Amino acid sequence: MRKKIVAGNWKMNKNAEETEDLLNELIDKLPNDIEAQIIVAPTFVNLASASDHLEFTNIVVAAQNMHQAESGAYTGEISADMLQSIGVNTVILGHSERRAYFNETDSQLAYKVDTALKHNMTVIFCFGEELKDRQDNQHFNLVETQLRDGLFHISNESWENIILAYEPVWAIGTGETASPEQAQEMHEFIRETIRKRFGSDIAEDVSILYGGSVKPDNAKEIFGKPDVDGGLIGGAALKADDFVGIVNGLR
Ligand code: PEP
Repeated sequence: MRKKIVAGNWKMNKNAEETEDLLNELIDKLPNDIEAQIIVAPTFVNLASASDHLEFTNIVVAAQNMHQAESGAYTGEISADMLQSIGVNTVILGHSERRAYFNETDSQLAYKVDTALKHNMTVIFCFGEELKDRQDNQHFNLVETQLRDGLFHISNESWENIILAYEPVWAIGTGETASPEQAQEMHEFIRETIRKRFGSDIAEDVSILYGGSVKPDNAKEIFGKPDVDGGLIGGAALKADDFVGIVNGLR
């Protein structure tokens, strides 16, 4: 059975004190009667303290990015080993903001995925079309290409460490959400694409999260679709009550 997951990507928000406050609120308020994996991704400088803070909870800490190299002259970058040395074993890769503002390409992401898997880390692999791709009816092709170029080279065993996050770029931070039907249509296509390349067991077991303006008032309907296994949440992950409201959408 695949896992239900809700992950919060805090992006470049929350200083040290605010990070601690939000984590405390989440520890207090997150329901413990829902079978779901909860993940939070604070910014790099607060990862070590977040990891310590959450050590004895069920909340998993993720990084928002990492470099593909093991170490070396890459000023400003962070390696897999560094993350693991502070207890962080999950990483978001390929977020559309990394692709758009930091020019991350599918082939670079394939290297990052390899490095993460080599370290036995869990990868939340993000992908999704831009508005123009959808208007041109190219959204399925684009998503298939992103999956192929970023993930089709990995081994069957590696899928245990992969979480997929479909995030249509036009719905991220815009307040515009894909309709539950649009999300389901794409998630079904994604699962089918994985099935064709890796077989039914892997396709059925992989969790596919939806991301893009998920809020407490639309989460339940989106998460209710059969191929949507939870969400990757941006803006609404910054307030404990909103995030908790979204997690409750899994009921
Ligand atoms: C995201 O950035 O991954 C995201 C889904 O953002 P938002 O929820 O703010 O649209």
